[in-house]
Amino acid sequence: MARVFNFSAGPAALPEEVLKQAAEEMLDWHGTGMSVMEMSHRGQDFIGIAEEAERDLRELLAIPSNYKVLFLQGGGSLQFAMVPLNLLAKGRSADYVVTGEWSRKAATEAQRYGDAKVAASSEAEHYTRVPDFAQWRLNRDAAYVHICTNETIHGVEYQQMPETGAVPLVADMSSHILSRPVDVSRFGLIYAGAQKNIGPAGLVIVIAREDLIGHARPETPSMLDYKIHADAQSMPNTPATYSIYIAGLVFKWIKRQGGIAAMERNAVARSRMLYDFIDGSGFYRNPVRPADRSRMNVPFTLADTRLDAEFLKGAEARGMVQLKGHRTVGGMRASIYNAMPMAGVETLVQYMREFAVKKG
Ligand code: PMP
Repeated sequence: MARVFNFSAGPAALPEEVLKQAAEEMLDWHGTGMSVMEMSHRGQDFIGIAEEAERDLRELLAIPSNYKVLFLQGGGSLQFAMVPLNLLAKGRSADYVVTGEWSRKAATEAQRYGDAKVAASSEAEHYTRVPDFAQWRLNRDAAYVHICTNETIHGVEYQQMPETGAVPLVADMSSHILSRPVDVSRFGLIYAGAQKNIGPAGLVIVIAREDLIGHARPETPSMLDYKIHADAQSMPNTPATYSIYIAGLVFKWIKRQGGIAAMERNAVARSRMLYDFIDGSGFYRNPVRPADRSRMNVPFTLADTRLDAEFLKGAEARGMVQLKGHRTVGGMRASIYNAMPMAGVETLVQYMREFAVKKG
């Protein structure tokens, strides 16, 4: 069996240890004679799995006790609607900072429900930076400020978090959660789709300060009301049981590696190696302002776009897949999440060097 180096932006590579354990436990989980997939979500076995996953996530991110952790469905995108439905009361406004495709989508969705203003945007700079905090036009009466702390397509990551005073800060952390420490207490609500650093697609994790829960608009479908989920430990209906189990295995894996500090060390090492090489190559280029570059998603272009197809073909022949950039920006993108071993980046850089020498 040969595993590839998978640079997909998501669904993305998972730790091999996790996949092996899941495979071993597939037919008979801990002597129950059944797969986790076949278990009742009301039974003690599954409740234990879900509780342990939440405990481990709380420990990894040091989530304060006045925050609820919800394991929901609908991916990151459903949060673009759930956030305004739950937090944006009629007559209030919210501020959105747009730094790429995902925060733009979040703002557009929120505008369906209410007064979602764009407080700052880097669209004019083709999403190559986080607008300086001093330029943000924040409204002190806003219901919340929404940001996307890592833009998966454009490769723009907040290295510092903005100060929003009494206005709750809401963050889409889908593509970099668990890769760096985060002071949860500075946020009103954090959400993250699972398919990058957590587990299978479809699952989304919401970490919400308790006082923000319970104010959904009256027309909100009950399945989209945070309170309905919070009051039922994320199980008012059948949750994504198998995805929660895999997420739990990933949390344990992170703990075994040394927790968030280790994830961050690895992310810094991987991304530095790649950016240093790109910047020094004279052949490849990353357009993002260095201070705002993502440690998780590294978009880059070749000196001549006519070489793109050949580059991708050569990469695949060497066991490196999913390096094609997003269709909206073109070029290449290497997504290097927690589960990407250093050897993957070393192999990529070596190939990029050889390719540049041959074609440059
Ligand atoms: N936010 C970010 C930052 C993302 O990268 C993505 C998906 N790549 C989404 C939201 C949407 O997630 P989903 O496809 O799970 O709805």
